Amino acid sequence: MESTRRRTQHSANGKGSEAVGKSAQWGRAWEVDWFSLIGVVGLLCFAPFIVFYFVMACDQYQCSISQPLLELYQGKATLLSIWGRAPSFTWSAAKIYAIWVGFQVFLYMCIPDVAHKFIPGYVGGVQDGARTPAGLINKYEINGLQCWIITHALWFANANYLHWFSPTIIFDNWIPLMWCANILGYAVSTFAFLKAYLFPTNAEDCKFTGNVFYNYMMGIEFNPRIGTWFDFKLFFNGRPGIVAWTLINLSYMAKQQELYGHVTNSMILVNLLQGIYVLDFFWNEAWYLKTIDICHDHFGWYLGWGDCVWLPYLYTLQGLYLVYHPVQLSDTLAVAVLLLGLIGYYIFRSTNHQKDLFRRTEGACSIWGRKPTYIECSYLSADGHTHRSKLLTSGFWGVARHFNYTGDLMGSLAYCAACGFSHILPYFYIVYMTILLVHRCIRDEHRCSSKYGKDWKRYTDAVPYRLIPGVF
Ligand code: NDP
Repeated sequence: MESTRRRTQHSANGKGSEAVGKSAQWGRAWEVDWFSLIGVVGLLCFAPFIVFYFVMACDQYQCSISQPLLELYQGKATLLSIWGRAPSFTWSAAKIYAIWVGFQVFLYMCIPDVAHKFIPGYVGGVQDGARTPAGLINKYEINGLQCWIITHALWFANANYLHWFSPTIIFDNWIPLMWCANILGYAVSTFAFLKAYLFPTNAEDCKFTGNVFYNYMMGIEFNPRIGTWFDFKLFFNGRPGIVAWTLINLSYMAKQQELYGHVTNSMILVNLLQGIYVLDFFWNEAWYLKTIDICHDHFGWYLGWGDCVWLPYLYTLQGLYLVYHPVQLSDTLAVAVLLLGLIGYYIFRSTNHQKDLFRRTEGACSIWGRKPTYIECSYLSADGHTHRSKLLTSGFWGVARHFNYTGDLMGSLAYCAACGFSHILPYFYIVYMTILLVHRCIRDEHRCSSKYGKDWKRYTDAVPYRLIPGVF
């Protein structure tokens, strides 16, 4: 079997990777069960259509999710007629997209971070990632905040002074751009898949499960790179998708202004709350190196296509909806949504910050005004070495094992509620995030349990709930 072959293969540096199989099994799965395989094939087949369906529901049916299905059922429309009405690929969209991605590559690769030199408290520049299952620690150039600021400064300069293009350019090319994003998403995933076989960056951190669909979707290489610094995960996870998120919302806002002569408070709320989330991501990009995306997920279609297509198209559905339905919330509701979003953000940020602080200082810090409590644990890396770690059991980490997800879900609900209560489409995000984070939580706990063994059991005994104390 491929996995067995792989595990006994010798790497470029001469170290046998036999140990990978014996010593450390805490990375991603080595073998695929039928349930996961069905999920993977289902996602590969249906995820692109889900994106297409939502975008077309807005373009052709005023964001009604049920109307296209009803028309198909009644025979008033066919899949071909809906497809036929979809705006097609255009070379002008391809040019916009190529300039966009090229510009983000340029910023990522060619402008080393200077922001950390003059913004107090910001951590940027060259930073260490977490230890990989093979025992490596990669270096990353953290310059996302700087890229985000330069990109947005140019956007505002263009909108107010330069007038090179209309601020509605993204909305106006939304579907042609979707084809371009799909081309990039599939190209990068396929390239990463082939690269893992032909010239992996670090052979010892590759995982071949023996199932081609699973390998393609969940990735083989852990940290594929081109050269020393072009890291696929850091680039595609953060840019171009997350930098684009706030620009997409600004383009929707400009479109509302163009169509109706004013911008609604719901559109401002969505821009504001999602803007805080995006800015938080870049402010804390160094922290992001310690999250599951970078520390545990391999780079495949899930991240490659997901970051190019799923994220920019489905995370921004609220703004898109508000272009078609310019909802003006009552002051009370607007304040309630704002509070829900801000409280959710506070919990999300504080929980993540507590873990980061705790891990960085190795427990020599104060959490909620007290010395933190924790569980000492140990684990093996693939090179057979034993490492020590600590699991925090106080602060938000004593309330539930993933209270950061709870805060994230509250924020997500706020984005949806900003769109009012007359359509289901904007609520897709909270449904999706709930599935994503619950699944992620279970996946992460399975991994932590393999990594820490009985120490993890002691931790789950000390903090028995995952997301909501007393419930789950
Ligand atoms: P976490 O930041 O919660 O990281 C989980 C890891 O932290 C575990 O694998 C373990 O790693 C370590 N850990 C677990 N419990 C403890 C503890 N008690 N004390 C110290 N370390 C612990 O998860 P994510 O990386 O998934 O999420 C990061 C943030 O990103 C979250 O706030 C989440 O909401 C958000 N997110 C947003 C998404 C979006 O699409 N909007 C998608 C995914 C995440 P180790 O092996 O180091 O012990």
